[in-house]
Amino acid sequence: MSPSKVSSLDFETFYNIVDGKKRTGKNVHHGINPATGEQLWDCPIGSREDADDAVAAANKAFPAWATTPIEKRKEMLGKFSELFAAHAEEFTTLLCKEAGKPRKFAAMEVGGVPAFIGFHCTLNIPEEKFEDDEKVVTTRYKPLGVVGAICPWNFPLILSAGKIAPALLTGNCVIVKPSPFTPYTGLKLVELAQEIFPPGVVQVVGGNNELGAMLTAHPNIAKISFTGSIATGKKVMEACARTLKRVTLELGGNDASIILPDVDIEKVAPEVAMGAFQNSGQVCVATKRIYIHQDIYKPFVEAMVNFTKTMKVGPSDEEGVLLGPVQNQMQYEKVKGFFEDSKLNGYKFAVGSPDISASKGFFVQPTIIDNPPNDSRIIAEEPFGPIVPTQPWSDEEEVIARANNTNTGLGACVWGKDVAHAEKIAMRLEAGSVFVNSWEKPTPQAIFGGHKESGIGGEWGQSGLLSYCNPHVIHVYKS
Ligand code: NAD
Repeated sequence: MSPSKVSSLDFETFYNIVDGKKRTGKNVHHGINPATGEQLWDCPIGSREDADDAVAAANKAFPAWATTPIEKRKEMLGKFSELFAAHAEEFTTLLCKEAGKPRKFAAMEVGGVPAFIGFHCTLNIPEEKFEDDEKVVTTRYKPLGVVGAICPWNFPLILSAGKIAPALLTGNCVIVKPSPFTPYTGLKLVELAQEIFPPGVVQVVGGNNELGAMLTAHPNIAKISFTGSIATGKKVMEACARTLKRVTLELGGNDASIILPDVDIEKVAPEVAMGAFQNSGQVCVATKRIYIHQDIYKPFVEAMVNFTKTMKVGPSDEEGVLLGPVQNQMQYEKVKGFFEDSKLNGYKFAVGSPDISASKGFFVQPTIIDNPPNDSRIIAEEPFGPIVPTQPWSDEEEVIARANNTNTGLGACVWGKDVAHAEKIAMRLEAGSVFVNSWEKPTPQAIFGGHKESGIGGEWGQSGLLSYCNPHVIHVYKS
């Protein structure tokens, strides 16, 4: 990989990548910089032909890729990671533009890509052996074939890389479909990957929701790894059932944070606010309900309010900005609905204003709703924006039940000085990932997946690899 080749990558022209080649399209669409309202570059809307060709190319590449030794696959993933890191600056700028993230947080997401790939390269596909007098039984895990990776708009880059790394490591070929709201970093990531991987091993076909539906219905795709909303996840599962595709669904959540009475208020309250407002609340595992022990309820809310008032909202490159805009108009209107509902019902705004209005960008000040009722929309639903409710609690059993009283189960947090006690509560929370004394920070080192309607299966970590494999058992009889 010569550095000159690397530096020639153009970050202003975007293509689908099918069978190692750049493709334009008859129809195009574009993203909008949510901080400025600026229309971004055109990119092709993948057609049925593009989808079919990508699936055919992936199936053609699969036998050779699946039998490439894992050490070689890791070596190529490592090279890809290095190549990507050499472009960190350009990817950060692109991510700022397509998602509106503050530069510091865009850079963190970009930095997460080599971290995810690097960690996956430390993993091995397990092999299990059982032996008795009669037989030796060996369980191996084989790649599935072609994986369709359907991605959302809130973390367009890391969630694409988080599917590409385990899919390729386990010997699958992968076709990425970015969200139409944030197509750019995903398209460029896969274009860059062509410098390392054989044609057809990793491809990208960008487009709208219909393209996603084409992939889920495609008879020659073996698995769909989907990250997005619960409503779409249900459609994906239904479509996949027709061809009995393997499916991983990473969906929405309504994470509870339980605050125990022994916390250091001044230290913990800002952290809890960060957990709620990170990425302007547009995180599947953002804190979405905050349960504070009644003995510290008032001072804790006050400390959260004080910190929240210091959180600067603005465009990516403005000095000191901590929160960017809501990513798109559709989401902005959705978030606005939670403000309107809270105002209409007379809930108390501890910080933030009930009346929001976007001018140039979809900016929304972080907002805390003080003690709305259990059946309020803001408690019962996922706003996916910078608005969060707080409620007091006094009985531990009751607050655990309240935290679990949801059809979702993605993440949760417990905060307390007595860590063993906090961990005991964590054990009883019905969620895929529970964090003790931290806000939700998913990592490649552990499987990430939801309980209940937050998903099916999971990915990342050692056990996440198995979601990209079929078990293959050989029974050898001794006689
Ligand atoms: P979405 O469901 O609207 O879209 C996700 C992707 O699915 C997009 O690429 C979209 O084009 C595609 N799609 C839409 N209709 C489809 C169909 N019928 N068949 C196949 N694909 C289709 O979700 P979004 O608004 O982009 O993302 C926000 C949601 O994602 C939130 O609910 C959030 O909690 C969730 N999310 C979950 C995780 C997780 O890991 N659990 C991570 C990030 C976001």
